[in-house]
Amino acid sequence: MLPQKIWANSGDSHFVEPPTLFEEGLPKALADRMPHSEKFDGYEIVTVDGQQFKRNMPRPGKDGVSMGDIVNKRAPGANDPKLRLKDLDEEGIWAEVTFPSIGIWASSIKSPELLREGVKVLNNWAHDHIMTASERLLPTASLALLDIDDAVAEVERCAALGFRAAFLPTAPPPGQKAYNYVDHWDPLWTALEKNKMVLAFHIGTEPLDADKQTGVNFRGPGGAVLNYTYTTFGGQIATMQMVASGALDRHPDLKVLVSEGGAAWGPFLGDRMNEGYRQHGLYVRPELSKPPLQFIFEQVYASFQHDVTAIPAMKNMGWQNVMWGSDYPHLEGTYGHTQKTLHELFDDEPEDVRKRITVGAFQELFPGISEPPADEV
Ligand code: MN
Repeated sequence: MLPQKIWANSGDSHFVEPPTLFEEGLPKALADRMPHSEKFDGYEIVTVDGQQFKRNMPRPGKDGVSMGDIVNKRAPGANDPKLRLKDLDEEGIWAEVTFPSIGIWASSIKSPELLREGVKVLNNWAHDHIMTASERLLPTASLALLDIDDAVAEVERCAALGFRAAFLPTAPPPGQKAYNYVDHWDPLWTALEKNKMVLAFHIGTEPLDADKQTGVNFRGPGGAVLNYTYTTFGGQIATMQMVASGALDRHPDLKVLVSEGGAAWGPFLGDRMNEGYRQHGLYVRPELSKPPLQFIFEQVYASFQHDVTAIPAMKNMGWQNVMWGSDYPHLEGTYGHTQKTLHELFDDEPEDVRKRITVGAFQELFPGISEPPADEV
């Protein structure tokens, strides 16, 4: 019999940093250049390291509620761990991976020194205010990716602080080599593997492009859906780069999480890569110890919120690493309707499928995480 309340771990959530974080943690000259967001009706202006980007946000609905209102008022746990845990208990979410909010835009910083000092402030705050608040909250460490030595040093520092995952944007910061340059990136992959830190890509985190309005890749009919769906692909490209370059082959204990990008893409992408690897074998460098799909099946995990195709990706296509994620407190997420969503997804599914996607895959990625409360039927 199905439990009334389905408990799930979440592979995707966010904390909103306090607006004064960088002012308090950095000299003024550096703090001024860290990401700042100013929200207006229907858009926000993000300022990063002397660059300005305009991002569209959903306009107020008929009831006058904007996304800013939803995030800051309807989900008060967005920046308060105590209120967060209350929300999680009500929603039926046990443990969660948390990503930054304004910190995501650190991927657009061009100065290695600024990035190196800025991520320390972000990570110290995540440690002091999120990680230590509850063992159920697993914050991701931000890394200074403009300099591999800086990134490795921050992995070591954050591993010692207890971080179990590192956040990487789906494309490296400006001027840095793409993720498939495996010799260049290898010290970072080595450090993550050695410290048992999950490499967590969150979709939609590519560095901002000053030449175009952020998030607007399409105009005209269907634009909103086209632009939203387009944000998905970065996670798939990053995954391809980690597999095809041999990074995952070199580091069999390195685990990758792709958050918020759905799940059915995993088997599809592996099939496409298998075909290329096999049929274009003459041109393939490096050679891999097994077909690309196997690396996705064994080392890559993916979180989804609403996608009904995510369940057959596990049940019928064999990808065991499909996990659910709430995307709390974002508009794309399930806050306010988590139980409704989980019941719609799993009411007709066998218990082993439900348990694997809601709890098991997450526990495998983060061994030792505590069990959610027992089912109440
Ligand atoms: Mn998210």
